[in-house]
Amino acid sequence: MIIWGGGRKSKNPDDSAVPFWCSNESELRLFGVFENYRYGHVYGIRVAKWNVFRWLECQDCGFKVAIPNKDGFAAAVAISGTWKVLRENSPTGQQLWQLIAKVAECVLGQYELAEVARSNALNEHEA
Ligand SMILES: [Zn+2]
Repeated sequence: MIIWGGGRKSKNPDDSAVPFWCSNESELRLFGVFENYRYGHVYGIRVAKWNVFRWLECQDCGFKVAIPNKDGFAAAVAISGTWKVLRENSPTGQQLWQLIAKVAECVLGQYELAEVARSNALNEHEA
């Protein structure tokens, strides 16, 4: 009888996706939010989760951007929820850039990129 074991699991919770800048294509693209981890179990009860990798993946070309930590992953899933609502209501360029600034700052910790996205949002507002 096997009472303990493990495996590897990939998931994309609720088909989460966020708009972000694909530096491979130099285009705005939609990125899927992914997590992959190894886990162990005893009597079918999950006991550990380790070797966790989290990333954003361009849905167009597959370009990957690593998410540095768990909070960033949670932020990505939350921003995906905002995006799903926004997408239904024809987002303005300004809203889109503000969302990208959030992804850069809260998900990836790329503060300089967040500043660039914010100034793009301001420019859209003036246009
Ligand atoms: Zn791409």
